[in-house]
Amino acid sequence: MIVGAGIGGLTSAIELAARGLEVTVLERAGAPGGKMREVQVGKAPLDAGPTVLTMRWVFEAICEAAGSSLAAEVDLEQAEVLARHAWSASERLDLFADLERSADAIAAFSGPAERQRFLAFSEDARAIYRTLKEPFISATRPSPVGLVRRVGPGGLGGLINIKPFATMWSALGEHFRDPRLRQLFGRYATYCGSSPYAAPATLMLVAHVEQDGVWLVKGGMHQLAQVFAGLAQRLGATFRYQAEVSEITLERGRVDGVTLANGERIPADAVIINGDTNAVASGLFGKRVSRAVPATPPPERSLSAITWNLVAKAEGFPLSRHTVFFSGDYQAEFDDILKHQRIPRAPTVYICAQDRDAHDGPAPEGPERLLCLVNAPAIGDTHSFNRSEIEQCAQSTFGLLERCGLHIQQDPAHAQVTTPTVFEQLFPATGGALYGRASHGWMASFSRPGARTKIPGLYLAGGSTHPGPGVPMAALSGRLAAASLTADRVSTKR
Ligand SMILES: Cc1cc2nc3c(=O)[nH]c(=O)nc-3n(C[C@H](O)[C@H](O)[C@H](O)COP(=O)(O)OP(=O)(O)OC[C@H]3O[C@@H](n4cnc5c(N)ncnc54)[C@H](O)[C@@H]3O)c2cc1C
Repeated sequence: MIVGAGIGGLTSAIELAARGLEVTVLERAGAPGGKMREVQVGKAPLDAGPTVLTMRWVFEAICEAAGSSLAAEVDLEQAEVLARHAWSASERLDLFADLERSADAIAAFSGPAERQRFLAFSEDARAIYRTLKEPFISATRPSPVGLVRRVGPGGLGGLINIKPFATMWSALGEHFRDPRLRQLFGRYATYCGSSPYAAPATLMLVAHVEQDGVWLVKGGMHQLAQVFAGLAQRLGATFRYQAEVSEITLERGRVDGVTLANGERIPADAVIINGDTNAVASGLFGKRVSRAVPATPPPERSLSAITWNLVAKAEGFPLSRHTVFFSGDYQAEFDDILKHQRIPRAPTVYICAQDRDAHDGPAPEGPERLLCLVNAPAIGDTHSFNRSEIEQCAQSTFGLLERCGLHIQQDPAHAQVTTPTVFEQLFPATGGALYGRASHGWMASFSRPGARTKIPGLYLAGGSTHPGPGVPMAALSGRLAAASLTADRVSTKR
């Protein structure tokens, strides 16, 4: 039994069904995908969650394990421009899939010395990724000692070199002289819902993950969820939507089923929970299983967001598929969010222009589909963001875009706003935190629960578990949960 059809739950469903197990997925929403959801603005379907797909190999491996191939299931195109970045109407920098092209763009933007520093930084990011890929990212959750053991004496130098005890911000200060580049690469911490001022330098690996390829899914990211649900179904899994699980039931300390919010009881010999681990810890699945995982105290939550899904005409600035408009004071932005727990007064703005193609072609004629996102504190469970707060945030958000030359002809009738309060309603017990526990401090990555819990028959999958958030990482967690469940079944039978 799988509770939740986010990418972690869907992956577990595929893997278990492919091994011939009887699988039922219970999902409280009306469609698969979880955060990888789609909203309707007017008649247009828009991605309202993740937009940047990386680590293609993860999805290839899942499809292959299911006897198919990624190419047969999903139409993917590699983005030529990883992202466009702007600080004002005249300061603009593109990063490209081609490393040398990025280096040349950096030379033109910040000078030849910075070009060299960028290449050295990229090498470092690649080394961190390579050091951690097998012993940490793809493997069951290790402790710090376990990680050292896994890399072995030969890999120890590599582990020390990845600077686990330095913050990302200080490490980036050693790499770059141009503060704009430090800000650009510091933003990768937010891909894990974290602040570059508190995240370990290890998160620089995200830069390599992007450099390794950003993929665009034909039909939008939500399509990937639909395809994965379809694949699981073809393998025999059953899906029930609008089915909210209110309790995991135990018999002699072992999982024996679930109860739905409508009172229906469904027996099961094992359950994988794909909801946030804090939902388990805070008792949303019943008091008896709440001890299975530690709670995430509110100060340790990752970032939330305020998003606008729009269908509008965007003119005056050449948007790429992914464009970031940076705030003038990055430290103040994170202080606002994390120290003062308020919407940043001057936020950095990310825009996904869903109708722009992989080759940075011309803008579509007429209105286009846009997702605008700013980071926000995960306080959606204790604070309801009122209209004037949102309007103020919209003014600073769209004001920055105007200053950079981008005019979006907004029609409120063609916009949908999502606040941390709405994210909390969609993903209970998170406060709207979109990435589980923040990766702040070197121990944070080791504090995410692994797939196995203290309760026999109860497993976890999703972005709040090991190896971490983001679509590919949550998918990997789904693989790990399926593998743990299968291994335990075999050993119990023995
Ligand atoms: C706006 C936004 C932008 C993002 N951008 C990116 C990006 O560009 N790239 C990237 O890789 N990642 C991005 N992410 C993060 C990424 O979307 C998530 O890390 C990933 O999708 C989480 O997957 P998951 O497996 O944890 O499941 P989730 O998506 O969290 O889904 C969990 C599912 O469990 C269901 N559920 C919970 N409780 C119950 C219950 N009691 N009964 C039944 N069902 C239940 C929920 O309804 C939900 O469908 C973004 C997220 C958001 C919101």
